Amino acid sequence: MTFQSKIQPKQEVVLTGDRTTGKLHLGHYVGSLKHRVQLQQQYETYIMLADVQALTTHFHNPGMLADSVRQVALDYLSVGIDPEQATIFVQSMIPEIAELTCIYSMFVTVSSLRHNPTVKHEAQERGYEDLYYGFLGYPVSQAADITAFKASLVPAGEDQIPHIEQARRIVRRFNELYAPVLVEPQILVGERLEGLDGGSKMSKSLGNAICLDASSEEVRSQIRRATTDPARVHKTDPGHPDICTIYGYHSIFRKEGSEEIREQCQKGSISCAACKAMVTEAIEEVLEPIRERRELYKHRTKDIDDILMAGTTKARSVARQTMGEVREAMGIHYF
Ligand code: ATP
Ligand code: MG
Repeated sequence: MTFQSKIQPKQEVVLTGDRTTGKLHLGHYVGSLKHRVQLQQQYETYIMLADVQALTTHFHNPGMLADSVRQVALDYLSVGIDPEQATIFVQSMIPEIAELTCIYSMFVTVSSLRHNPTVKHEAQERGYEDLYYGFLGYPVSQAADITAFKASLVPAGEDQIPHIEQARRIVRRFNELYAPVLVEPQILVGERLEGLDGGSKMSKSLGNAICLDASSEEVRSQIRRATTDPARVHKTDPGHPDICTIYGYHSIFRKEGSEEIREQCQKGSISCAACKAMVTEAIEEVLEPIRERRELYKHRTKDIDDILMAGTTKARSVARQTMGEVREAMGIHYF
């Protein structure tokens, strides 16, 4: 057997992505990015810069997209996504995704979108009453993103569970209506990271995030100011780790030591300052290699553009192939 024949082609496909609405943060890292880095060697991996989805909430300001696309791309490279292993592409430059969205929207009901708990929560958070058509329909567009590449696995945060469920329903409906062309995706759910203010998930738009490009000083001061158990004023006061943001960080970034911290907090034998210092150190261990890779890439803007162009060209040809099969299945391949 030759060496070449031992190399197995990557059979299964992973697709995931992020809205290009600003820099990525630690929530993205634990929720999805770290899984992508692990999966890229075994899976054919597509990572999408979701600029169209960004427009669902940022259509007033499309001028921010060009910078944001490059910023998120730099974040990807910094966390260790390898452009030799994974295809990074720009959503708006794949017209087949828009075509698929249009086809799927024929058999997705408005009430199924209105009942989607993540859409409901986000609409409420943003104060939307009369929902925009594109915003309400973004889960359909996400189904198009995933199915255009026949992805079977989507590493994402828990807020994405209803969207993947919607995508699975769309696939089943399409396959039974026309022909079994599409692949049902599964979600690989990452951990959820709370924001520094407690109370809500770490999010780009809520200003409660530790960005992946934060300096050591920024991380230190952000954690120093983070909300803890409000009932705990003195070190000897018994703490309630389950409602403490910082304890949540211990259970994600210092898994092995976290039980001990829980006991010490409950007994009032460790101060919040000491507890924060330990978690800062653990977060720094995650961020340090990310900073080093960022240094390597940050001035190579031409190389980053080349990576995006090559990725988008490859992604387009795969999406075009799927669109051809979809037309064939529906009998709308006229000439
Ligand atoms: P925006 O406020 O613009 O919606 P966001 O911070 O919510 O930005 P998205 O681009 O919507 O980020 O999410 C991209 C991916 O990161 C999704 O899979 C989402 O589940 C995951 N993610 C985002 N924030 C967190 C978090 N705090 N914890 C875990 N996963 C997260
Ligand atoms: Mg979001």
